[in-house]
This record gives sequence, structure tokens and C-alpha cells, in this order.
Amino acid sequence: MAALAAVALAEVLGRAAGWGALGPGDADTNRVAVTFDDGPSDQTPALLEVLSRHGVRATFFVTAPACVAHPAELRSLLDAGHQIEAHGRWHTHALLLPPWREWAQLRWHPRAADSGPHLYRPPYGGHSPLTRLLARVHGRRVALWDVEGRDWTHADAATLARQTLERTRPGSVILLHDGPAVTPALLNRLLAGLETRGLTAVTLNELPARRITLRAGLGRLRASYGG
Ligand SMILES: [Zn+2]
Repeated sequence: MAALAAVALAEVLGRAAGWGALGPGDADTNRVAVTFDDGPSDQTPALLEVLSRHGVRATFFVTAPACVAHPAELRSLLDAGHQIEAHGRWHTHALLLPPWREWAQLRWHPRAADSGPHLYRPPYGGHSPLTRLLARVHGRRVALWDVEGRDWTHADAATLARQTLERTRPGSVILLHDGPAVTPALLNRLLAGLETRGLTAVTLNELPARRITLRAGLGRLRASYGG
């Protein structure tokens, strides 16, 4: 019973509210951050081309298996000056990892040897009761988002870009994926739309991402559970 309560609390406080994790930046800037999960992939060169055309640097949360499968694409992300952070040694929800594997999950980072900060975005935003503790142990900062590009759906690029722009505010952290075929075209429209609104896309470090406060967490809870 206590274990179940701990799991429920991790889901509500950790993932849905996101309390204490990094979320959007200040609302009184003209900056937003575009982030990509799950890469590198076969789509990375196309994303790099669009980013370069718009003169934008983004943040890529990469997984260990994708880095092994796409070393050249990882190299080109680093060479182009994008921010590279961890999305896990396994692309697995935290609740499906036994504690010793979650320890290894938080330990892995594509720039582990560099000086920090080292960010970690949990797959699916998922939290176990140990996630925040293990992040602290390994010196990782959990990084979430406030706007989903929904590029895993079957909608077309124009629709997804319009819906993403509608939800984007100054300071927003936008979640896209390095993998879906639609994402480069979506990104191109999104960046053009941001430019029209006078918003500048930067990396999470440049935003900078802020810790999600009690008040902001309550708003996220309402949005997450549809209240
Ligand atoms: Zn992911």
C-alpha cells in the first residue's frame, strides 16, 4: 500500500506537476526553446538542415541506443553547436525499471565527462519514486516541457505547426522528436511562425529553463488531468 502511494505521488508530483524539475523560462522574454527527444536518427540531417536555414540552435535529448546506431549524426549535432542532453540509457518508463537499472539510467549521459549542467529528460516524462533522488545522486537536472508538438500523431505538418504555435508562449519549451518523418516540415513551419511572432528559438541553457514552482505545478496538474 505504501509502495502504491509512493508510485502515485511520483506520477502526480514528478511527472504531471513537474515540481522542482526544469520547465519553461521566464514569460517576460522573447525566447522559446525547441527540443528534440529520441535521436539521433535518420531524420537528424534533415532537422539540422532546417535549423541551419533558420540560424537556430536547439536541444537534443538523445538515447544511448540511438547514439550507438547513429554516431555520425551525433557528431554532426555536436559540430553544429546544439545542446546535447540525456534521454536515457533505455527508452523505458521509469516504473518499468528496477532500482539498479534506474540508477544506471540516470547515470548515463552523452557528455558525462564534460562539466555540467547535465540535463535528463525521462522517457514519457515518467517518474518512479526514486527518479528525483537518483538524479540528485548523479548530478542530473530533470528537464520537462510545456508544449507538445504532437509529431507522433498522423496529422500533417501544417496542422501540427499551427496547433503548436497556438500553445506556445514566451519562455515555452517545445517538445518535438528526432525520428518522425513529419518533423522537419513541421519544424520549418514552426520556426517561421515563431519568427513572425518575434520569438527567438534558443537552447534550454540559453532560455534559461526555470524550476517549476508550486503555482506553475498546479497549472500543469490541471492541464495534465483535464480539469
Ligand atoms: Zn522519448
